[in-house]
Amino acid sequence: MLKKDPPILVTRPSLPPVEEYEQLVREIFSSRYLTNGGMQHQKLEAALKEKLETPNLRLFTNGHLALECAISALHLAPGEIITTPFTFISTTHAIVRCGFTPVFCDVEPDYFTLDASKLEAAITPRTRAILPVHVYGNPCDMEAIERIAAKHNLPVLYDAAHAFGISVHGRAVSDFGTASMFSFHATKCYNTIEGGAVATKDAAYAELLNGYKNFGYHADEEIREVGGNAKMNEFQAAMGLLNLKYFDSEIEKRGKVATRYRQNLSGIAGLSFRPIREGITQNYAYLPVSFNPAVFGANRDQVSDTLKQYGIFARKYFYPLTSEAACYAGQFDPAKTPVALTASRNVLTLPMYASLPLSDVDDICEIVAGCNK
Ligand SMILES: *Cc1c(COP(=O)(O)O)cnc(C)c1O
Repeated sequence: MLKKDPPILVTRPSLPPVEEYEQLVREIFSSRYLTNGGMQHQKLEAALKEKLETPNLRLFTNGHLALECAISALHLAPGEIITTPFTFISTTHAIVRCGFTPVFCDVEPDYFTLDASKLEAAITPRTRAILPVHVYGNPCDMEAIERIAAKHNLPVLYDAAHAFGISVHGRAVSDFGTASMFSFHATKCYNTIEGGAVATKDAAYAELLNGYKNFGYHADEEIREVGGNAKMNEFQAAMGLLNLKYFDSEIEKRGKVATRYRQNLSGIAGLSFRPIREGITQNYAYLPVSFNPAVFGANRDQVSDTLKQYGIFARKYFYPLTSEAACYAGQFDPAKTPVALTASRNVLTLPMYASLPLSDVDDICEIVAGCNK
């Protein structure tokens, strides 16, 4: 097989037809209203409230700052926030940058989401909130987590960066917990170039988010919080409106890519796909595959390196664990979350995007299967 030129990357952003974006850019130019909640922003906020089935939604310039604002707006006393280390570093950084101590709970072996059966043991008198992550679009066991949270009177803030458009038995993910943060980064299955949102059922909390993303302003001359600046601008919102229009057809194409991977690679000993929780709609945000090095003929890193030789760049999401990051050296013990640790060593996310040709999927699968020697 020839080396891929141009190379195949793990993802490729969805883009609307450029003429449609030009049209909205013209509208922005003629309004001369570039940010601070202009027309495009208002339209996108309304459209996403409907799409994510939430009564209150606030837009942000990116998912990370959305998460920081969401933590700040909980108005917690200093202390600990329980989370998982098998996530993008943003989740842990947001907790630490807001002045809290992350406490790492292990993940479930099937879904890599917070293991509710280990949650109670992580709660201490200093626990202030729970911050679980819906990994790869697989939602957490929200009912079990929220039962424990309610018993201990703790708010639950979900990192739903991967869970755009997901529902569980017909109920939207944003309907759970105190609030959910979504990321609209270019690499996510729905993008506003950079961007993010927080959805919540709590109207007063949503009003606080306005302050935290805009220097504490709630009205002219009324500055209530020590807020920063995390506002989404009009160019981002315009991209979001157009990508929303094409979202369902993009997800359908992703679904076909996912099906092809499963057809090609099923039944290989030591290679497994993540199971899908019962009753959920999928967004096919990622294509994670686990390699059991005791059974498969190569370990995860060897498969990754072999793909690279062919110009195919899979990613080790998530490696290292956030608790192993150099900036946290010596603070946490990754061995205390053994399931997460094993997952981080064995998982590879293969290229996944709507416009990935099925013939390329076949080539990728042939190379992966060929590593089983
Ligand atoms: C992408 C991501 C974030 C951060 O979102 P940005 O929009 O990139 O700032 C946070 N958490 C998880 C799990 C993510 O994948």
